[in-house]
Amino acid sequence: MNVPVPAASSPGAVRSPASQAPPGTALELDRAHVFHSWSAQGSLQPLTIAGGLGCEVWDDTGRLYLDFSSQLVNINIGHQHPRVVAAIAEQAHLLTTIAPGHANLTRGRAAQLITERAPDGMDKVFFTNGGADANENAMRMARLHTGRSKILSAYRSYHGNTGSAVVATGDWRRIPNEFAHGHAHFFTPYLFRSDFWATTPEEECARALEHLARVVECEGPASIAAILLETVPGTAGVLTPPPGYLAGVREIADKHGILLILDEVMVGFGRTGHWFAFDAHDVRPDLVTFAKGVNSGYVPAGGVIIDAPVAATFDDRVFPGGLTYSGHPLAMAAIVGTLETMADEKIVENARAVGAEHIGPGLRALADAHPVIGEVRGSGVFWALELVADQETRAPIAPAVIGAVKQGCLDRGLLPFVAENRLHVVPPCVVTPAEVARALAVYDEVLTEVEAAL
Ligand code: PLP
Repeated sequence: MNVPVPAASSPGAVRSPASQAPPGTALELDRAHVFHSWSAQGSLQPLTIAGGLGCEVWDDTGRLYLDFSSQLVNINIGHQHPRVVAAIAEQAHLLTTIAPGHANLTRGRAAQLITERAPDGMDKVFFTNGGADANENAMRMARLHTGRSKILSAYRSYHGNTGSAVVATGDWRRIPNEFAHGHAHFFTPYLFRSDFWATTPEEECARALEHLARVVECEGPASIAAILLETVPGTAGVLTPPPGYLAGVREIADKHGILLILDEVMVGFGRTGHWFAFDAHDVRPDLVTFAKGVNSGYVPAGGVIIDAPVAATFDDRVFPGGLTYSGHPLAMAAIVGTLETMADEKIVENARAVGAEHIGPGLRALADAHPVIGEVRGSGVFWALELVADQETRAPIAPAVIGAVKQGCLDRGLLPFVAENRLHVVPPCVVTPAEVARALAVYDEVLTEVEAAL
């Protein structure tokens, strides 16, 4: 195997490609045979990524990019961490697959490491292949535990692209399923574009909770199995809830015997500067779903962490769910390797410190210099810049402008994450202050260029 050798680099620099095929072959094969997610297929020109290391990736010509997208906010530990790669390789030599019904040391250790980070009493993990099926199974557990059918979730949310998960999703991706039964949606706090005419976080919190209480009443509390929320809605814009909101949701849920499922698929395992995003909020969920950061996606994995009362429902009653690859040995080895390494190398602490000391202050300085930035939000390595055409009206910038922002970043060797009118700043948790400085310089140049054209 041809393994690329790392070297110090700067964005846009060139690295010798590791590939044996001529540049362009990957794109040719992709255009001929790969059907892509969330896209009209005809106009796609995907960037080829041939390799990666730490916070960088490179294409098949060897051109380097600083990865400030983390590959869909996923690769918390950075690309190709040698300890995780070694853990997967070691497991591959021992045992590559077993059915979910067996006991296995790597699987047990992965579950132990996950539950050690969860609140006391949340001692069991059901493993899935990713985030959507984690939410799917959490909703199923809630329905079976309560004997109720309905799930409430936020309009500003993404929960995955499978049956119930996409119906629980609130954004445009739910629309083909608009006639699905058993789900209702509500508005969650978003002070910058308040649905409640609020002007302070306290007002936004109180009114969002009043609204939820009303939705629960109107939907019929006795029909509701669970409220499903992203702890911090991610794809919808890094919308950290105001203090007291999640505790208020918990209170409404408890009043009616409704379970609370927190979706930590995007925010779990270090992204916000905490092991779980809910660690920064005064709330205890009944079920937690996770994926992505648990092993940085080195091998697909996800799961549900289950509180004791829900787990006990299935002590003498069959849980009628399972997946052939639940607790797959390679995915479990990647979890063990990732979580042990993150603890040893204090990677969550790094995310928190770099966010507080470099990313946050750097983005706020950019906002002072660039009228196109309407708001800076976030913590850890989980930030969004809300880009506006007009500071007064807060009208979002046009899609063509966000397209120019994306292209401007790529031209300067930075892989960005953009969504609607926002630039999300989501590097791996291992990002260094020097890499943040490089990214801030790119954003500064790109925003200057874009503002000149407005
Ligand atoms: N939940 C959240 C909050 C997500 O951000 C995502 C994916 O981005 C999912 C669920 C779905 O995860 P997956 O794509 O692994 O199915």
